[in-house]
Amino acid sequence: MEALNKQLTDWAHDYYVIDQPKVSDADYDKMYHELVTLEQANPDFILADSITQRVGGEVLQGFNKVTHQIPMMSLNNAFNKNDLLDFDTRIKKLTDRHIDYMVELKIDGLAINLRYVNGQFVQGATRGDGVIGEDITQNLKTVKSIPLKLKEPLNIEVRGECYMPKQSFIQLNEQREADGDNVFANPRNAAAGSLRQLDSKVTAKRNLSTFIYTVASPEAFDFKTQNDSLIDLAKTGFNINSERKLCQSIDEVWDYIENFRDKRHQLDYEIDGIVIKVNDFQAQQEIGYTVKAPRWAIAYKFPAEEAETVIRDIEWTVGRTGVVTPTAVMDPVSLAGTTVARASLHNMDLIMEKDIRLLDHVMIHKAGDIIPEVTRVLTEKRDDTSVSYEFPTHCPTCESELERIESEVALRCMNPMCPAQIKEGLNHFVSRNAMNIDGLGPRVLEQMYDKGIIKNVADLYVVTEEELLTLDKIKEKSANNILTAISNSKTNSLEKLLFGLGIHHVGAKAAKLISENFQSIEGVMAAEQEAISAIDTIGPVIADSLVKYFSNDEVKELIAELKQAGVNTDYLGQTAADIANVDSPFKDKTIVLTGKLTHFNRNEAKERIEALGGKVTGSVSKKTDIVVAGEEAGSKLEKAEKLEITIWNEAQMVEAIENSTELN
Ligand code: NAD
Repeated sequence: MEALNKQLTDWAHDYYVIDQPKVSDADYDKMYHELVTLEQANPDFILADSITQRVGGEVLQGFNKVTHQIPMMSLNNAFNKNDLLDFDTRIKKLTDRHIDYMVELKIDGLAINLRYVNGQFVQGATRGDGVIGEDITQNLKTVKSIPLKLKEPLNIEVRGECYMPKQSFIQLNEQREADGDNVFANPRNAAAGSLRQLDSKVTAKRNLSTFIYTVASPEAFDFKTQNDSLIDLAKTGFNINSERKLCQSIDEVWDYIENFRDKRHQLDYEIDGIVIKVNDFQAQQEIGYTVKAPRWAIAYKFPAEEAETVIRDIEWTVGRTGVVTPTAVMDPVSLAGTTVARASLHNMDLIMEKDIRLLDHVMIHKAGDIIPEVTRVLTEKRDDTSVSYEFPTHCPTCESELERIESEVALRCMNPMCPAQIKEGLNHFVSRNAMNIDGLGPRVLEQMYDKGIIKNVADLYVVTEEELLTLDKIKEKSANNILTAISNSKTNSLEKLLFGLGIHHVGAKAAKLISENFQSIEGVMAAEQEAISAIDTIGPVIADSLVKYFSNDEVKELIAELKQAGVNTDYLGQTAADIANVDSPFKDKTIVLTGKLTHFNRNEAKERIEALGGKVTGSVSKKTDIVVAGEEAGSKLEKAEKLEITIWNEAQMVEAIENSTELN
């Protein structure tokens, strides 16, 4: 029992504190269950510090502590139908009331507590050890689905799950892999790592969302049931998951679970189970709590979807920034609805840590429900000939020596002329969020490069029809389409070019902000580090990278070539055509922002409204359509009232922004 407790405590530390689990949840749960079984058989030997007697999680250094007035508990688990039937029997022994079960999805994220005073969001915290959590208010303010002001001036504490949608998780990991950073094991850890950031600028970029599932003290609001409270929370402005169901019996609960076994793969967020709660609050109170979890609820955990296969090869590919990433090539197996034959191994650390070798039998699963990943090696199936994997020392494409940069987990090809990097860079340049040049797929670009028609992105603008016609499968019509698409891209606004250049760390959003701020490529090139990092949400890493990039003579030459070819290098703002496509209450309206805003700062609100086709001006006049009045609004609000102009509070503005489709 001591050994199990020690191992589980170590794993829990990696999972809760540093957000980098060492084993799968299924393996953790299996060992946890073993400890629980031993404790049940030997209650006198339960260790004082047993992990089964406390809620996992600790407060990270650097965060202020928050004491939860009402503890944030964990949930007991069920792994099969029998466990659920036992739960139902226990419940019925503990109360005479009629029992309905509220069945909800178990969102795989991080538990959060949100406190509102007079309807204003004042504090947000993590669960921590259940009693003391971390104050993450500033970070939670960047999460758009969290209302900063409720529709009513309530004093209320609510709890829910902050999560990262599957798609955002995949994009984040792709970006991290390309930047040579450690990837997150799953959306839960990505959400936890994103929320427990000391810099809320980082959190703001992570596209987190929330589902609220409980009021901390429902009795204070006269709610009778969990269902009533959820309906009310939705009306108050919280995001509530709509997939829940009120069930009359445990059999009905089981049908719901069965239904979600497959359906869960279609959700755009990950769930790790189904939570079953006694619906009636009075009955909940009668049934009560253990030290760690309510007795009136249980979490059914889906069995891990895993498959066994054999690693035949490890392929290394060079990315746009020179990062070389390994992919396992495996015997095809079917897993969670698809056939899987390849899995990214992310970086050399991961291969070393898991000691992955050629011909190893491995278990694979899908991270974020989509991306195949090796979970563990079945070392017992190795034979005597097995040897540690030997890492490549040279670039698989240009054969220059690979380097491992300190502070990065990646191997890098440092040769900027490496054909693989240049080809990836070309693909990126023509991609949709960059210069958006249709018809130039990877195969066409590869041929153009290999035949010496282009050696950099500027050469695209001097390509001729004759040259295109020398390529495989390119006839006159497609050649003309390509030339038109290339020519059209010359009029793109600066942010598309800036993103397209593929500068390390400069994503599409950063490119937009920087372009807007400096207005022209000359402005960006002349900008100093401080001026760039002074832009809201742009950090020093991006600023450094930009300055370094533009200090390179070859880059300066490239920009001159692009200009020479007629490529626009100014920021053009939104075009009339863009605005015409927008659907929002701000479109063609003049808006004045006044008073203190809390959800966005003034600049962000202005940007968002302008992106939705509105015009933000500084003073109220008859021409003003809407005045958004934050806290302590003064003379502008008075003037608006006099002129009978529509007045919105901040929450109305935020809601309108969130319900509109933004440009780009
Ligand atoms: P839990 O995650 O199993 O269940 C409790 C949590 O469920 C709550 O705190 C809440 O955040 C969440 N939840 C999601 N949707 C909910 C809903 N609709 N209603 C109520 N709660 C909802 O418990 P835990 O104590 O946080 O974590 C234990 C689990 O974490 C283990 O079962 C294991 O799978 C995993 N874990 C894994 C490792 C590892 O190394 N892989 C280590 C420690 C823990």
